Amino acid sequence: MEENIFIYRIDKYDKIRYVSDNWQIFANQNGWNGEIRPDAVIGKWLWDFIQGAETQHLYEELFQKVRIGKAIGPIPFRCDSPDERRYLELLLKPMPDNNIEILSTIVRTEDRESVNALKEDECSSHGFVRICSMCKKIDIDKDNWVELEEGLSYLKLFEEHEVPCLTHGLCSACYEVAMSDLD
Ligand SMILES: [Zn+2]
Repeated sequence: MEENIFIYRIDKYDKIRYVSDNWQIFANQNGWNGEIRPDAVIGKWLWDFIQGAETQHLYEELFQKVRIGKAIGPIPFRCDSPDERRYLELLLKPMPDNNIEILSTIVRTEDRESVNALKEDECSSHGFVRICSMCKKIDIDKDNWVELEEGLSYLKLFEEHEVPCLTHGLCSACYEVAMSDLD
């Protein structure tokens, strides 16, 4: 097991079925809530540990894509410890029976002044990101709609300390479809 790769797997009900040996370090630094010892998280529902409705929503959409057989990533994200900025990459791999393997790899770290590394529960009012209600594409710039994972990377959404608020809308393609359905 490489020390800078953290792995966990969830089953089709989003219950945690496996965590790698170095799991606990990762969970601590990522600000996961509650009991995070490996023997305490196995069998638990993943969503009990992920903070913030917006972040949960983005993960849910990613998981849906993985469950139709698509490997996703790498998506850059941040998970800081109190005295380090940590830049990671997220990979999601489909497994048999709708299970998903989630790999987080530390790409680099930087020292910093010690601060509280925990993420805010609420999304940040500094920014809004538009997501298409139908196809889940993300608007990266004035009606430039791209696939969710591409948008997460481009806008570095998982690298921000606070996740921006999502607003739902329709991308131009889905808007066209919706309009023609009405005709
Ligand atoms: Zn759409």
